Amino acid sequence: MKILVLNCGSSSIKFQLIETDSDLIESNTDRCIAKGSVERIGTDEATLRVTVPPNPCKSTTLEILDHQAALSRVINALKESHAVADISQIQAVGHRVVHGGERFAASVVMDDEVEKEIQHCVELAPLHNPHNLRGYYVARKVMPQVPQVAVFDTAFHQSMPPRAYVYGLPYSYYRRYRIRRYGFHGTSHRYVAFRYRQIFGKAREDVNLISTHLGNGCSVTAIEKGHSVDTSMGFTPQEGLVMGTRCGDIDPAALLYIMSKDELTLHDMSTLLNKFCGLYGISGESNDMRELIAASAKGDEQAKLAIEVFCYRVKKYIGAYSATLGHVDGLIFTGGIGENSPPVRALACEGLTELGIQIDPERNQAVVGKEGEISTPASRIRVMVIPTNEELLIARDTFRAVRGLPLPH
Ligand code: AMP
Repeated sequence: MKILVLNCGSSSIKFQLIETDSDLIESNTDRCIAKGSVERIGTDEATLRVTVPPNPCKSTTLEILDHQAALSRVINALKESHAVADISQIQAVGHRVVHGGERFAASVVMDDEVEKEIQHCVELAPLHNPHNLRGYYVARKVMPQVPQVAVFDTAFHQSMPPRAYVYGLPYSYYRRYRIRRYGFHGTSHRYVAFRYRQIFGKAREDVNLISTHLGNGCSVTAIEKGHSVDTSMGFTPQEGLVMGTRCGDIDPAALLYIMSKDELTLHDMSTLLNKFCGLYGISGESNDMRELIAASAKGDEQAKLAIEVFCYRVKKYIGAYSATLGHVDGLIFTGGIGENSPPVRALACEGLTELGIQIDPERNQAVVGKEGEISTPASRIRVMVIPTNEELLIARDTFRAVRGLPLPH
């Protein structure tokens, strides 16, 4: 089945056309036929990028005034590049939807009722859900016959028990405003956990995993027998690890103190928390781990400190989730940093021999941007690098939802 995966933002659409079905999932041979993006929608300088592997990316600058025009351009480009002969070959559309609140614990075929429920979650993700929904509206107009599926970043973590998701706030805030921990990056954690079990031929029930997604946003998840039982992001993607530009866990009173000292508004504080903290804030120069590693090697003390704080926080969560799970079989690194940075992986796992984690320095160095094991043969816990593929998981869920097949969490 050919599935168009869409990730719609306020002025952008990212897409992939993916061929998948049950056999292809089983053999891990489902694949991306074409991918690309439209950026700066709403201007006369929008960019349409399309790559049909193995051909190089084709980029065009043109006027695209709204998302509907953008999607029509994408479909034309897919036809022109022979990725599809005709629009009718696209059999389903899968949408990335950031927040499914407490309503969605799995992906779902979209209809009026689902749309209403996603609308209810807009309050929880005002910067994302409205644009994800816009993707649904325009796809419905451009391809009215084609079924559409919503795949939520939060759904995987709906299996967390109350002890993991309830904050130490007055409980009335949970009742009134649904303030609780939701967790994000669910499609990524789910994908790499599935892949780990596939590599080793294990059943869901036989494996406990800690999965660390380290990219520009970062999170760790404790996965017990295939279910997320705790994750480091919370009510928003601000909680947990130190990230590119977000601080992660912090004493909330420190924020009140800064607001009062510098007379910051809520808007100022929100900008500070989203754009100026994390690796960028500590180093004062970059949110890009590559640049920080290079600067640190040249003796830049702030860059070194940023890397140390980042890795120490990852290590703390690995320790915490070892306690949560009791027994851990595998530790997974994924995301731009997790997949590509041996020094970060080494530092995050340093001194964890007692927990059963031993990194092999040579293997670690050799596994960059690809799948591979980086632990020593003696390591009780297998440490794996598994490149994430959220689009593939969205396509797989879309296929299953449309066919009415069971949707594993
Ligand atoms: P993502 O959000 O998963 O695309 O990850 C993006 C981040 O990955 C970038 O901001 C970089 O910090 C990081 N990254 C990519 N390549 C490398 C690398 N070779 N070494 C260290 N960090 C990397």
